[in-house]
Amino acid sequence: MKKSTEDIFAVKDIRLTTMRILIYEYLETVTAALSLSEIEKYFYKADKVTIYRTLQTFQEKGLVHKILDESIAKYRLCAEVCSENDHNDRHLHFYCKKCHETTCREEIIFPENSISGIQIDEIQILAKGICDKCL
Ligand SMILES: [Zn+2]
Ligand SMILES: [Zn+2]
Ligand SMILES: [Zn+2]
Repeated sequence: MKKSTEDIFAVKDIRLTTMRILIYEYLETVTAALSLSEIEKYFYKADKVTIYRTLQTFQEKGLVHKILDESIAKYRLCAEVCSENDHNDRHLHFYCKKCHETTCREEIIFPENSISGIQIDEIQILAKGICDKCL
């Protein structure tokens, strides 16, 4: 059964606000990662600062991760394994050069502790090409 937004926020220790719920539920309905301006466009009536702060909070609490493609940062919901200041989004991201969509490819995962002697806090693996819809 799908977890409710309230449950997910409780697990990640995020205080419920209307805007937070709306943004989370919107991110849940889309399949690709979204840029800040795309999210702002969808919530055009909302205060931009609030949207930005909401995404910052989500990122800190391990609810969304940021992906850098060509030049812009995009946000995508995390898996349940992420928690406050502990992201485990070690999967590949795929950027389509035609439709400019960026998607999470959880089937390709960078192995943990694969390089000894260093501490990896964050991983950005990006593949570029043409997606299945554009091919
Ligand atoms: Zn994460
Ligand atoms: Zn495409
Ligand atoms: Zn991802």
